[in-house]
Amino acid sequence: MFNLVIFGPPGAGKGTQSDKIIEKYQLKHISTGDMFRAHISQQTDLGKEVQSILDNGILVPDEITIRMLENEMSQYTDVKGFILDGFPRTVGQAEALDKFLESKGQKVNLVLELEVSQSEIEQRIHERGKISGRADDSADKLVKRIDEYFTKTVHVLPYYEAQNKVAKVNGIGDIETIFNNITVEIDKAL
Ligand code: AMP
Repeated sequence: MFNLVIFGPPGAGKGTQSDKIIEKYQLKHISTGDMFRAHISQQTDLGKEVQSILDNGILVPDEITIRMLENEMSQYTDVKGFILDGFPRTVGQAEALDKFLESKGQKVNLVLELEVSQSEIEQRIHERGKISGRADDSADKLVKRIDEYFTKTVHVLPYYEAQNKVAKVNGIGDIETIFNNITVEIDKAL
């Protein structure tokens, strides 16, 4: 099994690159954001519990997120590996993931960091806001999510750096160049 964590702020291109990685390496895509949104649209108990948290662009408590992720991963026993997108976002989540994988004789093989600076990301939103002609709610929310990334989620990186698992890829440029750089890192870690 090859387990990859894709890391980077909202708007860094994680979704786009994940799609390409999945196609080439046939990994099972797990996005905790997508899972929460599915629960919300289906109005499950979990969905009702987390709706306002997502609306505010802040992080769902670890306990809820970890339980949901482990339930989901446990359902796929016959896969080549996972690509985790949007998880872990805290050191507590990273530790829980290590324990969970270890209990199955697995590990996180590689953490790919798509490097895009906070100012670059905020500039992109600002430009978009100018085009649409209004600084609407969703732009505010996006700024909050970006802030959550740079204040909380980045602290997960040293956790994996201590394990020598982080590969940094420049997240600015054209999609194919970024993808090529990603494949170099994956092929090294395979
Ligand atoms: P995303 O689509 O990955 O940006 O996630 C959307 C929202 O879902 C986030 O702003 C959080 O509210 C919530 N969320 C997704 N993944 C996590 C996570 N690993 N830990 C806590 N909250 C999360």
